[in-house]
Amino acid sequence: MDALAILDERFITCVLPNAPLLTLGENYAWLEGPVWFADHDCLLVSDLPNDRILRVVGDQVSLFRQPSGFANGHARDRQGRLIGCSHRNRCITRTELDGSITVLADRFRGKRLNAPNDVVVKRDGSIWFSDPHYGISTDYEGGKQEPELPPSLYRLDPDGTLALVADDFAGPNGLCFSPDERLLYVAESGPQFAPDPERHIRVFGVDGARLTGGRVFHSVSPGFADGMRCDEDGRVWSSAGDGVHCLDPSGALLGKILTGGTVANLEFGGRNRSRLFLCAGHRLCAIYTNVRGAVSL
Ligand code: MG
Repeated sequence: MDALAILDERFITCVLPNAPLLTLGENYAWLEGPVWFADHDCLLVSDLPNDRILRVVGDQVSLFRQPSGFANGHARDRQGRLIGCSHRNRCITRTELDGSITVLADRFRGKRLNAPNDVVVKRDGSIWFSDPHYGISTDYEGGKQEPELPPSLYRLDPDGTLALVADDFAGPNGLCFSPDERLLYVAESGPQFAPDPERHIRVFGVDGARLTGGRVFHSVSPGFADGMRCDEDGRVWSSAGDGVHCLDPSGALLGKILTGGTVANLEFGGRNRSRLFLCAGHRLCAIYTNVRGAVSL
C-alpha cells in the first residue's frame, strides 16, 4: 500500500515519496503518549494496557518503566523533565532528575481527577492537561473507578495552583499548542461507548492563562482525532482512523500518511525533528518527513 495520500499539492513538499513507513515494533497492547528526548536521541512511548513505558533508540525498542501507573500522554517541562498522565493513579506526575516520581496534581477542589489523558507544557512553565473519563471506564486501560469530576481541561501553574480552563467537553483528549502558543488545539473524542459520538478538533485562543473561543477546527474522518502535533510552520498533524492527517492552519486536509489502521498519537523526533513516530495501534511506526516538528523545549 502506498503510505502517502496527496490531497492538496501543498502536501507534496511536506513528505518524502522515497521514505519508507517502517515498523519498529509490533504486538503491543495499545501505544500512546510518545515524547522525544533529543538529548538522549530517544523516544519514550506508553504501551498503555501493558502498564509500561518503552524506550526507542534508533530502531530498537526496549523497556523503560514498568509498572507505569497506566501512563498515557507525556511531555517535557522547561527543565526537560518527563511529565506524565497516569490513568490508574489519576494524576499528573513529574520524573525528577534523580529518577524519583513526584505527583504534581491529583485533586481539584477536593475531588480526585478522573484519568489525565494528554499533557502539554507552555513556555511559561504551565502544564495543561485533559481529564476525561476514558482511563477509568475500563479495566484494560487503568482499572474501573468512579469519576468524581466532569470531563475537563486544566492548567497547573508553576506555583502549584490548579485551575479549570474549560469544561464544556464530552471527552477532551489530545492537546497541542500552535508554535507561537497563541492557539490550543483540543481533540474531542466524545463519550467512549456512544454509538455515534461527536468527534472533532476544536481550536481555542490562548490569552495568557485563559482560553477563548473553542470553535470546531476540523472533523477527522475516518475514526477520530486523539494525539496531535504541530510542525514548525503551524500545520496540525492529527491521528485518525486510517493513519495521520495533515491539516493546514485553516483546517483544510492536505494529505495523509496511511498505516492501514488507527493511529492514536504521534511525535516528531530524530535529527532535526523531521522523523514522525506513529503510535499505530499495536504497532510502532516511523517515517521521515520533509517538515520539522515545532520546537517544544
Ligand atoms: Mg489520548
